[in-house]
Amino acid sequence: MEVPFLDLKAQHRPIKDEILAMWGDILDGAGFIGGPHVTGLETELAQAVGVKDTVAVNSGTDALRFAFMALGLQPGDEVITVPHTFIATTEAISQAGGKFVFVDINPADYCMDASKIEAAITPRTKGIVPVHLYGQPADMDPIIEIARKHKLWVVEDACQSHLATYKGRQAGSIGEASAFSFYPGKNMGACGEGGSTNTNSPELAACVRMIRDHGQAKKYYHDIEGYNGRCDAIQCAALRVKLRHLPAWTAARQKNAQRYIQNLSGHPGITLPVPAEGRGHVYHLFVIQVDDRDNVAEKLKAKGVATGLHYPIPLHLQKAYAHHGFKKGQFPVTERAAERILSLPMFPELTNDQIDYVCESLKAVLH
Ligand SMILES: *Cc1c(COP(=O)(O)O)cnc(C)c1O
Repeated sequence: MEVPFLDLKAQHRPIKDEILAMWGDILDGAGFIGGPHVTGLETELAQAVGVKDTVAVNSGTDALRFAFMALGLQPGDEVITVPHTFIATTEAISQAGGKFVFVDINPADYCMDASKIEAAITPRTKGIVPVHLYGQPADMDPIIEIARKHKLWVVEDACQSHLATYKGRQAGSIGEASAFSFYPGKNMGACGEGGSTNTNSPELAACVRMIRDHGQAKKYYHDIEGYNGRCDAIQCAALRVKLRHLPAWTAARQKNAQRYIQNLSGHPGITLPVPAEGRGHVYHLFVIQVDDRDNVAEKLKAKGVATGLHYPIPLHLQKAYAHHGFKKGQFPVTERAAERILSLPMFPELTNDQIDYVCESLKAVLH
């Protein structure tokens, strides 16, 4: 049996006609930039996430970057985040003029360890960026408490956690702002690039709207120098269709995760994801830990099971950040995770037979 890591074709088959009809209308009307599909997505997504406003932009990376700029980040300002994330998190901080400062993650949830934050705060610290990695929200209560105490803002990197929940609240609705990515492989992906900045602050939303559109609120009246950072109508139309299916897709991911957990729990040598109390994990990725990970991945591949690594090299050990002078051993929880993690196939359309085959293959490889 062949089990792909992700099967986007299976996701599109049942919704293709619906999307093509909307795209046909857009072609006929030639309204590609702005318009009712952009505002429609923004309204519907804000409602689904429980925030006052969302601003559709060209990527998750810029959704973060524009949020930092709108919050007034200045050159040299420090922002606390984690080294166990995709590089977009730190790119957005650097490219908004800030300096990222790392704190390690919790071994259990792979998200920011709140007990490490205060030691990283300096007079230049302006904000905290927890990453809701793999689809599980970081432990937000202590993060928000520390932020309030030190007068810092919190921007949630929710790029992997559409519709995840934390103690009854939606991921992406808890900090001053948050970012979703609509990269095709994300839980809600565009048919191209896209992202959104989400916030309960009308001022912040208005500012991000200006930044994404050359600094203009009114055409050709530029209050600031902005960017070409919009999300086009073609993407927003497809995303509106997908948003209607997202709750069912999320439930399917959770059901698939339960089947993996039932199948694999108690098996020696496998560390399974442990959903934390009060957190609704949406399983963007299903990440286990094993010894001798590269060898296990290789043998699974030979059996037809595709796997992924998210992420093999922690950010503080990336070549791009060599000039920061980080040292190996500086973030031991992240480094240990990076050596042992393995992402198993996970998508809503995964069949029970496919999950069972992945589990049998894994057990045979570990035997
Ligand atoms: C995907 C992702 C991003 C960036 O999103 P893009 O839409 O690809 O720019 C940022 N942070 C995390 C954690 C991501 O997974």
